[in-house]
Amino acid sequence: MAIKELDWANIGFSYIKTDKRFVSNFKNGAWDGGAIVDDANIVMSEDAGVLHYAQECFEGLKAYRTEDGRVVTFRPDLNAQRMVDSAARLEMPQFPVDKFVQAVEDVVKANADWVPPYGSGATLYIRPVMFATGNVIGVKPADEYQFRIFVTPVGPYFKGGVKPIVVKISDYDRAAPHGTGNIKAGLNYAMSLHAIVQAHEEGFAENVYLDAATRTYIEETGGANIIFVDADGNLVVPKSHSDSILPSITRRSIVDVAQKYLGLKVDERYVKLEEVHNFKEMGLCGTAAVISPVGKINDHGKEICFESGMDDMGPVLKKLYDTLTGIQMGRLDPPEGWIHEIKL
Ligand SMILES: *Cc1c(COP(=O)(O)O)cnc(C)c1O
Repeated sequence: MAIKELDWANIGFSYIKTDKRFVSNFKNGAWDGGAIVDDANIVMSEDAGVLHYAQECFEGLKAYRTEDGRVVTFRPDLNAQRMVDSAARLEMPQFPVDKFVQAVEDVVKANADWVPPYGSGATLYIRPVMFATGNVIGVKPADEYQFRIFVTPVGPYFKGGVKPIVVKISDYDRAAPHGTGNIKAGLNYAMSLHAIVQAHEEGFAENVYLDAATRTYIEETGGANIIFVDADGNLVVPKSHSDSILPSITRRSIVDVAQKYLGLKVDERYVKLEEVHNFKEMGLCGTAAVISPVGKINDHGKEICFESGMDDMGPVLKKLYDTLTGIQMGRLDPPEGWIHEIKL
């Protein structure tokens, strides 16, 4: 085994084609056995359901090389279960949790040389995706699907150290109340692209979306959940009245780490935009960055500044970040079932 020699610190977050991928097809009411294949391209009908009615869902997780040289993934069973939930909501067939976890293992093993070295800050991003390949013209679920997992190495999220970002309160909505905001479907991202391009043009890193019904409560950003630290140093996690926040695995893990490792109180509740100025720290959480600190929110020209400022991650989020990444990288003892070792 020879780890690839890439400029790990500078590869960024973009697609790099690796050697192997896992593909399984659903036909005549059943998934085939699936296989590790070479071909990174997909040939399908012009009438495939995914192209017309957006029957697609995906997942995102990472493989890490630990300090003692093992290759591990973080809670892949939760990604598997979330994809089952996404598929059910989109009338797609479910890919069984155990087979999903096995396929993650197989594809990482087949691309083991692409798992970046420990300490490089880079990781192997794993992208499971499921989409309708069967023909549909009338609006209905397709009857054929593909489930595929490919991997691509990604560089450190924060090049040259963690830097707080500035986000804006968006005038667009991400997800309708009781719509599809709670599943990981590409369609939620298609409609966020215009909003994020605009936000970037205005100099903001992300959009904070409010609840679509009343526009008074904090929900999440386009691709990350939000967490706050209150004046007492406790963690506050926004809830949605209309179930339109994506259940982030990073956020759920942070809640456990806060309670069980750091002894913090965690308040999962509805959070009004108008009370956010009372908080001391704000962060965005997801697989990509784990925690990305927010220094300021811009609400239609009015700035909400957090005490943690624009130079560093605040002290509480920093502790959460160090503890969770310590668990992921094998430096700290994990809770039962969190670290899934891939035996090479
Ligand atoms: C994927 C995603 C997240 C983060 O989820 P993780 O499981 O922590 O990676 C948050 N919000 C949205 C909308 C997402 O699609």
